[in-house]
Amino acid sequence: MTARTFPTGTIIGYPRIGRRRELKRAVEAFWAGRIDAEELERTAADLRAVTRDRLVALGLGRDDSSIPESFSFYDQVLDAALAVGAVPARFAHLLDADGRTDLAGLFTIARGEGEHAPLEMTKWFDSNYHYLVPEISPSTSFSLHAERILANVAEARAAGFRTRPVVVGPVTFLALAKPADDAPEGFRPLDRLDELVRVYAQLLERLHEAGVDWVQLDEPALVSESLDESRERIVAAIGAAYGALGSVAGRPAIFVATPYGSLDEALPALATTAVEAIGLDLVRGTLPESLDAATAAALASKTLVAGVVDGHNIWRGDLAGAFERVEAVRTLSATVAVSTSTSLLHVPHDVEDEPQLDPRLASWLAFADQKVAQVAVLARGLAEGRGSIEGDLDAASAALADRAAAPGVRVPAVRERLAGLADRDFSRAPYEVRVAAQESLELPGLPTTTIGSFPQTGEIRRARAGLVSGSLSADAYAAQMREEIERVIRLQERIGLDVLVHGEPERNDMVQYFAELLDGFAVTTNGWVQSYGSRCTRPSILWGDVSRPEPMTVEWSTYAQSLTDKPVKGMLTGPVTILAWSFVRDDLPLGETARQVALALRDEITDLEGAGIRIIQVDEPALRELLPLKRADQPAYLDWSVGSFRLATAGAASATQIHTHLCYSEFGVVIDAIKNLDADVTSIEAARSRMEVVDDLATSGFDHGIGPGVYDIHSPRVPSVDEVTALLERAVAEIPASRLWVNPDCGLKTRGYDETVASLENLVAATNEVRALAGRERVSV
Ligand code: GLN
Ligand code: ZN
Repeated sequence: MTARTFPTGTIIGYPRIGRRRELKRAVEAFWAGRIDAEELERTAADLRAVTRDRLVALGLGRDDSSIPESFSFYDQVLDAALAVGAVPARFAHLLDADGRTDLAGLFTIARGEGEHAPLEMTKWFDSNYHYLVPEISPSTSFSLHAERILANVAEARAAGFRTRPVVVGPVTFLALAKPADDAPEGFRPLDRLDELVRVYAQLLERLHEAGVDWVQLDEPALVSESLDESRERIVAAIGAAYGALGSVAGRPAIFVATPYGSLDEALPALATTAVEAIGLDLVRGTLPESLDAATAAALASKTLVAGVVDGHNIWRGDLAGAFERVEAVRTLSATVAVSTSTSLLHVPHDVEDEPQLDPRLASWLAFADQKVAQVAVLARGLAEGRGSIEGDLDAASAALADRAAAPGVRVPAVRERLAGLADRDFSRAPYEVRVAAQESLELPGLPTTTIGSFPQTGEIRRARAGLVSGSLSADAYAAQMREEIERVIRLQERIGLDVLVHGEPERNDMVQYFAELLDGFAVTTNGWVQSYGSRCTRPSILWGDVSRPEPMTVEWSTYAQSLTDKPVKGMLTGPVTILAWSFVRDDLPLGETARQVALALRDEITDLEGAGIRIIQVDEPALRELLPLKRADQPAYLDWSVGSFRLATAGAASATQIHTHLCYSEFGVVIDAIKNLDADVTSIEAARSRMEVVDDLATSGFDHGIGPGVYDIHSPRVPSVDEVTALLERAVAEIPASRLWVNPDCGLKTRGYDETVASLENLVAATNEVRALAGRERVSV
């Protein structure tokens, strides 16, 4: 173990996709065969070099281990899986004699190939980043493959840098893994902790041999109460894992980062191991209120890394307050450092890349580069005293004051409307009353519909690009979108669907579309954030009180409805999802912001109704995603999230049918919330889990309309009529046919037309078979 001190300022991780999405471009070019592995490696090496130089220019140290090696070609959890040899058996053919895989193999494991399904993908804690889920069984044979980690260290060293390798820690790795298919009933990945830790111990030895001073092991699992594994077991695992790693003789100093919340009862367990530095997320989390004597004594001997610069949001924030929080940590240990609360993976690169943003708004923002600079300022304050950074603290405070007073941040009319809300604004007439009123829709039994979007073709995307660049006039764009809508309506009529959609061709994104039309939001040009692999999103910035200057969807929906006698669904994105996929303000409780968005949607629903739209869908695919990691915080969240949906929809007349759509099948914790949404019809993903959700629904007493998805839209595969029929028969056995709807799992925007048409034809054919079988058909089709 070396005696080197931890750097005074650092970050937990840095965006890796490149400020102009260079990595995305290169990776996709490699997939398409346009560049070879060597060129992809070169692009990646260039990106790492640019990042190192940039971080030093922003104030991190060149040779003090303050620069994290957080690069990844696809995902850091996949990297860890490959480094410890945890590759599922179906990919064994991708490994060489030493058990290593090349870049092509890495991407195959991430994306699948033929009948070899990729690793499953799921949300990383409460962020919008998705990681690949490792598969572990008793037969997984762990072995170390540290080549890439060591090569990055050597590359940095050759360029004159001493960097800090970053690896997902062993407890989090297993806590996030799932049992592989060959695992026996009752097996848990964490059962393999001891063997895995032995491989991590070897990794530490190798890093030590390579001259690494500090290694960062990311253990966000220690802050979550929302994992499959019990909290007790996680806490016990920390003691075991870090007890063992701490006693490795020749190793770098260990920094355990625990982003996304407070450690709570995991803190004593971690503190009493031999790790040298512990990271605390002091943005989401807080300092412990009281500590037992043993923990206090143990902490006093550690470096405490105060994560006070928000890595998860884009505000410049209260720097003076952050400095005070750092100082407060000094009561626990004499050795304190400053860092971001989480990896900066969740924010775009640089506010300087947004020249079209209102300069006043821009002065309130800090993207990744500005956050690094903030860390450097706080670190200087820590080293040289507050007096040395007074100017920076004052400038940040002045920006904060300017923001608080700026027009649009607090809009009296919006605040008054919110203050005037009463209970009745959150409730519709009883469900039975609505069902009776909605008879006038004259829907057949087992109505068929889709989730909203139809394929976004190259033509549509080109038209939108033309509109943005000015080469296509607004009128010409609108005319092209109307043509597209007409095509989609005619197609649905021909296929024989019962409730139609306009297809959403005019939407670049289901959140950004609304953000562009609502007051209180701004959109960026280069503000890309990695969502998974090479996929990036550009979240909007919700900076002020939200209101709706004019109708947002009425023209498109009424145009679509004018083309057909079948009902066309109005299509809105719900308040929770709009918040989840934007950068939200930090100066107003989320629940209040959600209610502001809800009121804007409520007005939209009134206008849609007034224009003759009789079915309106309010999508909430992110309802589950924003669920807090801590149990104690969940009831309040469920209360405001459900409340905002109800506020958005409760103004609808009984005869107006309100639908919602959710994108996941693990109902579990949110089942009551979904019931409380009180939508007339809820569509939900179900095909991948073979309708398991139907059982859950039946047992939970859910008694409104339900559309469990009958085919998975994530793959181009066309489901056969028999397959859909079988799923429908399962559903009909558990749910009264009068409440059952037939639809795909999700929207079709990422699909091509060929498979979409074939799949929907089979969906309708299967529905007709089941209708005939059940003899429940009320209206002939
Ligand atoms: N209505 C949206 C669509 O069909 C819903 C998308 C989603 O659930 N993510 O595209
Ligand atoms: Zn969906």
